[in-house]
Amino acid sequence: MRKLAFLVAAIGWGQTFQATPSVARQGETIRVRDAGAATSARMSGRTVRLFPQPEGGRLGLMPVPVLTTPGSFQLEFLGDNGKVLHAATITVRDARFRTQNVVMGREIQELQPSPGETETFAEFRKSVSEIRRWAEPLAAPVPGCMISPFGVKRLHNGKPTGDYHGGIDQRSPAGRPVHAVAAGVVKIVRKFNLRGGTVAIDHGQGLESVYLHLSGFATTEGAVAQKGDVVGYIGSTGRSTGAHLHWALYVNGVPVNPAQWVPLTACPTGNRKARPHS
Ligand SMILES: [Zn+2]
Repeated sequence: MRKLAFLVAAIGWGQTFQATPSVARQGETIRVRDAGAATSARMSGRTVRLFPQPEGGRLGLMPVPVLTTPGSFQLEFLGDNGKVLHAATITVRDARFRTQNVVMGREIQELQPSPGETETFAEFRKSVSEIRRWAEPLAAPVPGCMISPFGVKRLHNGKPTGDYHGGIDQRSPAGRPVHAVAAGVVKIVRKFNLRGGTVAIDHGQGLESVYLHLSGFATTEGAVAQKGDVVGYIGSTGRSTGAHLHWALYVNGVPVNPAQWVPLTACPTGNRKARPHS
């Protein structure tokens, strides 16, 4: 019996200074755990909080930004006083993101954000709330295949935008329900010029999700959504050239690859219906 308890502790929360995966690709999320005194973690000048978990120990999420130069990094575990308790080596690999062109009409291309759109969104991304409402695995918001993966360098009508795709596009007919990927507090339910119908959910402890181009809503700001709840309906509002769902995950304010969190299949290439819609 004692042996069993020891085994459970050894493979579970008993471990100190865990960072997984230790070899990550650009856009991935590193889970940082400690059963000891670490209360935050730092890598490349970014510090994230480690939150106490009900099963014991602490957990935090360290994003690897898309634009990270591949190489070796130190992930430091910090105590309450900011003292470095331990350092782990993280290898960041090149994710080899491709380039993708989106063909769009002039009115669509020239759309400007609504007053307050950029600020509202920035404020949402910046916030980190205390209560963890998410649990793995997350659920895909719609069943459709992936028209456009995360991280691709985007061109609009053949012209580089200098930006990358900060989320995933899934194919789905207009009007289909969009489900929350995890439980969380609904922070934004708005019609924006650029993002179109937008729902943004705070899942707690640094994890957030957003759903764009919606044709309608099934939730309200301040509501608590459960995993799988319908929060809106597929549309093509805002900067979009056809019905699809653009959804994104943010880890401590940084866009990360949802495909690391949710299994998704790419649409067959060469299919006209599988063209990207922004
Ligand atoms: Zn998109």
